[in-house]
Amino acid sequence: MSTFSSLAQTIQPLDAAERFATLPPEYTPTKRLFIKTYGCQMNVYDSERMEEALVPLGFQATDMVDTADLIIVNTCHIRAKAEDKLFSELGRFRIVKNKRKDAGQSTIIIVAGCVGQALGADILKRAPYVDVVVGPQTYHTLPETVMRILWAQPNQPKISLGFPKMEKFDELPQERGLKGPQAFLSIQEGCNKFCKYCVVPYTRGPEYSRPLSDVLQEAKHLVDLGAKEITLLGQNVNAYHGLDAGGKETSLGRLIMALAECPGLTRLRYTTSHPRDVDDDLLCAHRDIKILMPFLHLPVQSGSNRVLARMNRQYTREFYLNIIEKFLQYNPKMAFSSDFIVGYPGESDDDFQDTCRLIDQVHFAQAFSFMYSPRPGTPAAMVKQLDEQIKSQRLQHLNGVLDGHRLAFNQTFQDQVIPVLVERADEDHGCMGRSEYMHSVHFTHPFCAVGDILNIQIQSSSHNSLKGVVV
Ligand code: SF4
Repeated sequence: MSTFSSLAQTIQPLDAAERFATLPPEYTPTKRLFIKTYGCQMNVYDSERMEEALVPLGFQATDMVDTADLIIVNTCHIRAKAEDKLFSELGRFRIVKNKRKDAGQSTIIIVAGCVGQALGADILKRAPYVDVVVGPQTYHTLPETVMRILWAQPNQPKISLGFPKMEKFDELPQERGLKGPQAFLSIQEGCNKFCKYCVVPYTRGPEYSRPLSDVLQEAKHLVDLGAKEITLLGQNVNAYHGLDAGGKETSLGRLIMALAECPGLTRLRYTTSHPRDVDDDLLCAHRDIKILMPFLHLPVQSGSNRVLARMNRQYTREFYLNIIEKFLQYNPKMAFSSDFIVGYPGESDDDFQDTCRLIDQVHFAQAFSFMYSPRPGTPAAMVKQLDEQIKSQRLQHLNGVLDGHRLAFNQTFQDQVIPVLVERADEDHGCMGRSEYMHSVHFTHPFCAVGDILNIQIQSSSHNSLKGVVV
């Protein structure tokens, strides 16, 4: 795994008072921060936390990169061509940095996230105008990193990687911002599963769960700020095993039960789960906890036992189908979404047909499908690859099958009255909210407010959304 840098020069964080005390005397309090985020909700959450960590230094977020004193690229290594995308984006930011330099302004460029973790010093070699590379577990050191750059310290470490997770969650500011009625809350990071196509165990490190009391405290804070819905995040969220007040490991199901006691919280979700880590506590939570949404993203990746074994997913199609069956026994309202990788090395036509058959058995309400593309350094990248044309044909076919199920699922809501959490209340352009199953639901209403839960009677449906009237 030589691609994944083991460089780990960790910058020691300072407390808030020390941060202020050591700011340069000529420091201008208001600085602009531009963050470009790639990837999943975990990265969106990380970007929000980075923004919050930099507020005490006077940074305010901007959408205009040309005005930014600090540019952070929060990278994701999961999707294809992540490195190419990063370097092409960095090329654009280099132009911004040069233009601002000509105008007498300085710009700091920081690469954060999984590609930063994976490439480390290579980024600085290929893009020497990048000031610092920070891994996903060390972004709590950002304020110190930025301050040292502002002080122009020549011996400033340029790389902060490693996996000191306890430190990260302890050091991040307790204050959170909120941009709508929904909030993300990270409860678990890292993964011990080592699927053969995936970089997460190398870029995010081994599993780590935050203590129960920390999660409950952050949830309460988010609800106090106005959050109605919280999505618990983790690379392998249902492997959660945070310690309770008595020092005993607890489960995701028990955490959900504790969160259900939080007054004002009306919806709970969690993502992303692994089929192997579904336990009785979680099943019971789906039966007993009314605020836990009956919609579960449970990646299966393939319906073929041969391919699942090659991927090291550690379950069979029968095991997966049995889990789905169990969820439905505990809560018949449940619906499922999933991830599919098409054209994994060694996938035969029969393997692919097994995947299509599994989709027909589960009737997924939603899904994300990808053509397999190798991630450097992973075992699956080192074996013979399938022909691109075959992969593309299979993906097209699979998407057709998935689309059919999604439309059929959406049509089951015709004439039904469903609860919708309002996300946009705009008299001129119409209102939009989310169903329990994550549909976008469009309607009009003169008086509703963001955060309301309204009953909407559905009048029409499409692949992507529902439309209805308030009743
Ligand atoms: S369980 Fe998910 S995060 Fe972990 S190695 Fe497999 S695909 Fe990656």
